Amino acid sequence: MIRRATILPAVLSCLSVTGFAQKPPAAPEKVTVIRAANLIDGVSDKPRHNVLIALRGNKIENVKDGGAPPAGAMVIDLGPEVTVLPGLIDTHTHIFLQGEDPAEGGYDIQLLKHPWSFRAARATVSVRRALEQGFTTLRDLETEGAGYGDVGLKEAINAGYIPGPRLFVVTRAISTTGGYPLEGYNPDIVVPKGAQLGDGPVELRKITRQQLDNGADWIKVYMTHRSWTDPKDDKKLVSQPTLTLEEIKAVTDEAHGWGKKVACHAYGGIGLHRALDGGCDSIEHGLDLDDAAITQMVEQGTWYVPTITVYYGDWAPENTPDGKRDRARAFVHEASFKKALKSGVKIAFGTDMGGIPWTQPIAQEFDYMVKFGMAPMDAIKSATSRAAELLNMKGELGVIAPGGYADIIAVAGDPSANIDALKNVRFIMKNGTVYRH
Ligand SMILES: [Zn+2]
Repeated sequence: MIRRATILPAVLSCLSVTGFAQKPPAAPEKVTVIRAANLIDGVSDKPRHNVLIALRGNKIENVKDGGAPPAGAMVIDLGPEVTVLPGLIDTHTHIFLQGEDPAEGGYDIQLLKHPWSFRAARATVSVRRALEQGFTTLRDLETEGAGYGDVGLKEAINAGYIPGPRLFVVTRAISTTGGYPLEGYNPDIVVPKGAQLGDGPVELRKITRQQLDNGADWIKVYMTHRSWTDPKDDKKLVSQPTLTLEEIKAVTDEAHGWGKKVACHAYGGIGLHRALDGGCDSIEHGLDLDDAAITQMVEQGTWYVPTITVYYGDWAPENTPDGKRDRARAFVHEASFKKALKSGVKIAFGTDMGGIPWTQPIAQEFDYMVKFGMAPMDAIKSATSRAAELLNMKGELGVIAPGGYADIIAVAGDPSANIDALKNVRFIMKNGTVYRH
């Protein structure tokens, strides 16, 4: 626990260094006050001004408009030009994946050639990069062949050995035979798979139990796999379903019994409808949401994590089958996002970072959400209070209010007027510990 103190500036060493999962120290902790000229608290529709945020240990004690800070409190004045916000939450990442650029060997080389220690070392950099961009929480949606490595990274962060966001992890993810790479190798050679594959409700329930037993906070399932364009219509996307309804129901029934939720990768068509009928809690990507799917998502309260940006990079050449598919994906995705927004589907911010190289800015996803019609303040809520709701952490994460964890950032400018401001993070605190000031 003390090790984290070595990476802190001396001036800030009076702040709590308590890890997320650890007991608070017995001695009374000092109060720290953040003076925020402008505050987006994650819940209110408009920014607040001249606010004092009092912190004790790793929690927010109170939030007051104006007035003087309590005597003896350490005051962090962030100045008039910045806006204070809750730490941001990305609900769809892959810390063990480092882009899929074919020139660098694509997806496959990471599973075939890189030792897990190398992948873990790079994942350490991924989580640090996320934190440095103001993302204090990630729901990491599978290790892509790196086993239970996410559980270890989470432990290392919580124990203070490495800097990183709070992690909610899914471990290996689940699909069916023929439902996930690696693919296309000599069938007589056993190659690793990026997810844990199984068939039939009995086997899939067992896999779910194994993952939960080994530390999964969520279960991730691939409900669709390959996709292509309809031969008669270049703009129509067709997706291969994976799990049957009986199979997905075994997974969700088991996970829900453990009090855990199920995130389902689903592009559209049969696989998407099985995901909804089978009780998935979040639809990941949801490129092609038809009206029936939207209605069902609203009725069931299913979350939508659109991950728009990742479908705008690295398109294959036009008029090739892959190039047509890539363009059709973006075309239908834009329409789906707009329909979901208009219909009141619950939307949480997610990027698929890892599918996107970690060198790129996470906040670029906000640009697409706003471009496709979401109000900047709603886009901010999707990455704060709404994302926290998805994570069953309402009131504890994604909000600056009494009782919340002291995950607090500040950006230059006003992101509710100019969403680009979220790319310029000046101050970062996670769990009461300052990482940048
Ligand atoms: Zn993903």
